[in-house]
Order: sequence, then C-alpha cells, then structure tokens
Amino acid sequence: MATKPIDRLMFVQGGLCFFCEQPLPRSEASVEHLLASANGGKNNDDNCVACCKAVNALLGNMSLKEKIRVVLKQKGAFTCPNGAGSSRSANQTEAPAKARPEDDKLSLVLADLNRRGNSRPRTLKTLTSTVAALFPKGMSDAELKSLVQRLQSTGKVIVAEKKVAYAL
Ligand SMILES: [Zn+2]
Repeated sequence: MATKPIDRLMFVQGGLCFFCEQPLPRSEASVEHLLASANGGKNNDDNCVACCKAVNALLGNMSLKEKIRVVLKQKGAFTCPNGAGSSRSANQTEAPAKARPEDDKLSLVLADLNRRGNSRPRTLKTLTSTVAALFPKGMSDAELKSLVQRLQSTGKVIVAEKKVAYAL
C-alpha cells in the first residue's frame, strides 16, 4: 500500500490535528517533524505528526525542548493559531480564549477516576453512571455519551467490548 506519510499520520490520528485535536482538513494538514530535520530529526513516522500548517510554521526549527514548552504553556486544550478558534467565537471577538466547559467536565471526571485508584468502574455501564453521578445538576444522555466519548479520545480510558481499562 503506497500511502504518503501525511495520509498515514492523518489516519493514525483519526483525522485530527496532533496538537489541537480539531478535525484537520487535508488542505490544512502538514507534516511536523518533532525533532526538526535541521536538528537531525528523522523522516520516519516515529518523529512525525500531522498538524495544522499554522502550528507547524510556528514551531519551525525550534528545539524539542522549546516545542514542549510551547505545548505546556497552552495549559489544557491546545489551540493552534489557525483561525478556527476565532471564527468559532466571532461574536465575542474581545473575549480571550478560555477553557471550554466541556474540558472542565472532562478534567473533573479524570481527576475523580484518578482518585478512585483500583476501585474504578470496570464496565462501560458503571463508568457511565459514575460519570453521571459527578454532575448532580444532571446532564442529558447525549451530553453524557459525548463526555464518555471524549474520555476515550484522551486515550486514558480504553473501552473494549464494554469493558473499561485505564491509562491514567
Ligand atoms: Zn491544530
């Protein structure tokens, strides 16, 4: 199968940008060498990610250390400087980027699961009711489902055959 690196990376990343995890149109996608080619970085998939062109240009030939610093400074949801965020909040141009409420819920659930240690829910059903119990004000089924989906997309909660495993 003769696939281009960018197509392989996009597939592995589920069509999402490596950094901001937003859906990444093929026309906006570029291959970022984590260890820059100029610094001796290899051209193989281990060293490459697909991401928004904007963040790729920003990271450029920074050292790996500087790149990690940039990522850490985003504190939580990483937003690439690709304009997608500003178009989403076009009505409130003056409002600074702030954490999305869904992200607060996600971190709340992850923190709770962390505290539970070995008594974490082992099935999708108990996980779902555990999550629901964390929000006494209630939450729609759709919202609950999407939150559980988002948990899985962090890679920290793995659901297979309705059994749940954790990589916290
Ligand atoms: Zn991005």
